[in-house]
This record gives sequence, structure tokens and C-alpha cells, in this order.
Amino acid sequence: MRLSDAPLFSEEQIARRVEALAAQIATDYAAQSLTLLIVLKGAAWFGADLVRRLPGDTLVEFIRAKSYAGDTSTGEVRFPLVPEVSLAGRHVLLIEDILDTGRTLDAVTRLVEAQAPASLRACALLDKPSRRVFPARAHYVGFEVPDQFVVGYGLDHDEHYRTLPAIYTLLPD
Ligand code: 5GP
Ligand code: MG
Repeated sequence: MRLSDAPLFSEEQIARRVEALAAQIATDYAAQSLTLLIVLKGAAWFGADLVRRLPGDTLVEFIRAKSYAGDTSTGEVRFPLVPEVSLAGRHVLLIEDILDTGRTLDAVTRLVEAQAPASLRACALLDKPSRRVFPARAHYVGFEVPDQFVVGYGLDHDEHYRTLPAIYTLLPD
């Protein structure tokens, strides 16, 4: 596998989109105290950049969801890490790196909804709508992407490439 020569989304493009998403979220939740629930590991980069653009007293929690081995879905979502606090009564915004089949978001949504939050929405940096199998959708989406495997800015391939500052397509040799 090799990286595309040019990024699919450059650092500057990502920064501009994150700023616009943060402005929209800040407006929508102006009157409410917000809890970001960042889905590790992939959304850690996006979530950290986003929260720094949000005003006020935003709370941050993490959940770790694992559903992938290599570039194929294992068909099962596990949660090796869940928030230690209850999300009951909170306005929760799930932060995901990429929405593919929707299985992960669907599973996280059910886990959070069981705790009776005051509200629950999702924000995904990337969305591959053509791949959707589960009825999950994100209220906020950074970019729609075609059915290609992408890496960088938190997104990995077997734990590699996460630290690239831009997003690239992973191509066959
Ligand atoms: P879903 O559960 O929606 O099928 O997949 C969501 C998860 O699969 C993402 O959080 C991400 O970890 C992984 N994933 C799906 N598509 C891609 C992709 O193109 N690149 C990378 N690096 N991970 C992906
Ligand atoms: Mg992920």
C-alpha cells in the first residue's frame, strides 16, 4: 500500500472546516452546557482541534471503540474504555473520525442512549454515505468522501499513519 501523492484534504482545508463546524456547534449549543464524547483513537486529533475552537465550559469524555482489523470490518464493536461518569441529563455530542457502515456510531449511540442523556447528536469529520449499512447519521459532517480508504489526521491503517497532519488516500501498490 502507498499514500496518494497529494493529500485528499490538506492541513489548511481541515483547519478551515474544523473552524466552521465549531462555529456552527457553538451557535447551536449556545444556551447549553455541552459534553463532547470523543471516540478513540481516531477522533482524538479532530476532537482536540474542535474543542479548542469551542467557547465556554465544554466537558470532554472519551470512549474507545474497536471494530477494525486492517482495512476490513470485523463486524463487532467492542468498548475497551467507557466514561467513568454518567452521561445522564447531559447534552452529548459524539465525535467520530469517519462514518463508514455506521456500525460504530450505531453501537456508541445505543450505549449512550441507555444512560438517558438530555440530548445526543454526532459529529463526524468524514462521511462515506455510499457505504452505510446501519441507520446511523451525523448531524455535523466535515467532508463527504468516496469509497476509498483514507489515513492521516488520526485515521490509521493498522495503527500507522495517524500522525500525518493531512488526510491521504491509501492506494494499492
Ligand atoms: P463503521 O463502524 O462506520 O463501519 O466504521 C467506522 C470506523 O471504521 C471508523 O471509526 C474508523 O476507525 C474505521 N474506518 C472506516 N473507514 C475508514 C477509512 O477509510 N480509513 C480509516 N483509517 N479508518 C476507517
Ligand atoms: Mg474510529
